[in-house]
Amino acid sequence: MSSFQQSIASARQCVFCGKPVPSNHPHCPHCREVVPKVRLAPAPTAVKGSQIRRGFLYILLGLIIHFVALRSDSLNLPFSVNPAVSYLAAMLFLGGVGLALYGLFTKVTA
Ligand SMILES: [Zn+2]
Repeated sequence: MSSFQQSIASARQCVFCGKPVPSNHPHCPHCREVVPKVRLAPAPTAVKGSQIRRGFLYILLGLIIHFVALRSDSLNLPFSVNPAVSYLAAMLFLGGVGLALYGLFTKVTA
């Protein structure tokens, strides 16, 4: 790596004027603004069992929406329910089953 590439790698861009600022300088030498130090945190790891829990939540939500869509006449709702909602709720239910099974599979194999 040449010294020019090292200087590029150790420099960061000023958020105010866009010119390169050495990474060890707290102020931009061109516009004298304070350059905030950005520290990237590692990506959050998925909590164990969160996909299973989310899958069961989708299953429950799909069942409730499907129940309300089917019984919308007898429940005397102030609005009409589109018949497509029943199919979408079934898809939500199946998606929840798939997510729960995937979470269970990853939990078993990990
Ligand atoms: Zn600047």
